[in-house]
Amino acid sequence: MTGRTYLAIPGPSVVPDRVLNAMHRAAPNIYEGDVVAMMDQLMADLKRVAVTSQNAAIYIANGHGAWEAGNANLFSRGDKALLVATGLFGMSWANSAIRMGVDVEILDCGKSGAADPARVAERLRADKAHEFKVVMVTHVDTASSAKNDIRAMRKALDDAGHPALFAVDAVASLGCDELRMDEWGVDVVVGASQKGLMMPPGLGFLWFSDKARKRTAGGDLRTPYWDWEPRTVGAEFWQYFGGTAPTQHLFGMREALTMILDEEGLENVWTRHSRLARAVWAAVDAWAAGNPDIGLNIASPTARGHSVTAARLASGGAGRLRSWLEKETGVTLGIGLGMAMAHEPAYADFFRIGHMGHVNAHMVLGVLASIEAGLTALDIAHGGGAVEAAAAAFARP
Ligand SMILES: *Cc1c(COP(=O)(O)O)cnc(C)c1O
Repeated sequence: MTGRTYLAIPGPSVVPDRVLNAMHRAAPNIYEGDVVAMMDQLMADLKRVAVTSQNAAIYIANGHGAWEAGNANLFSRGDKALLVATGLFGMSWANSAIRMGVDVEILDCGKSGAADPARVAERLRADKAHEFKVVMVTHVDTASSAKNDIRAMRKALDDAGHPALFAVDAVASLGCDELRMDEWGVDVVVGASQKGLMMPPGLGFLWFSDKARKRTAGGDLRTPYWDWEPRTVGAEFWQYFGGTAPTQHLFGMREALTMILDEEGLENVWTRHSRLARAVWAAVDAWAAGNPDIGLNIASPTARGHSVTAARLASGGAGRLRSWLEKETGVTLGIGLGMAMAHEPAYADFFRIGHMGHVNAHMVLGVLASIEAGLTALDIAHGGGAVEAAAAAFARP
């Protein structure tokens, strides 16, 4: 394949050459020098990504590790939690906590839209004894591409007068969709390096409020490695990481945060993702107009994530399209996740387009034109004008 290939799956995402180059260095001294000296600013900048001035912790882990870190710090064995699920990733976070001994009640809100905050408020009102310690919500569920309204969810807790901590999985949305931890009253944000944050997989992040820090102290699920306390204080350099630092990753992280925060600016990053997402939706809607087998998974635009788009292409079309694109165009689309099981025929009826992180219009419009070519090559009926519609959506946001 000549030219750059494009891994258009929702994570790992495209890593900027600048980030790769920043990581390409000899093992640094971990007792003094560059890597130790940059730590204060790196932690301060990490907090800027979640728009918080409170606490942050870095783990050598992926998103699953960050989930587990969150669970280990938030809960004691047998604690109750309410998890609001809008797709497979919410369910998986619940399972992580359940396997650790947390009594998780899942409020299943389906996988074709955002959760209804009124349902959450109603469930919390019924919890008169305030047994739920934490309300857990996925911001953007990467499988369904549903986006929850985090401010409305906060209001649901407040309306119900419920004191539970509020935890948000933002692995797929940080650096893509607007999220303001402090202003929106979020107590814990879960993140990972390899999606909107433009780094390779390997770092998991937690941001947590002073309230959460105080209220959860002494929990019996808190093991030494996952304990967020030494990591946010960083009394000694190694304590930020519970051991040896992820040295090269930190240089990559430094570069990525500089690009996001200081060069493009976080609000501009959010706007770029919104524009690109609208281009994707316009294209899928245009294809869908010519074939009832095609459609966006999430009907309401306000309930769609800006980093990933899940779509249906029934009769096995999605599977054939993915194979054709990879072979003929250098584009790899995401598989349908959590919409059907791997052994079911419907498994090949869904695909996802990742448009997160280091992406721009020529990449996303190129993916859409490649899909257009694939639909034509595979004789899959589809409405016309999709690429024009996408271009217009980008041109006139
Ligand atoms: C990717 C993702 C995870 C899991 O991250 P891994 O790095 O694959 O372990 C969790 N939550 C969300 C919302 C994600 O998008």
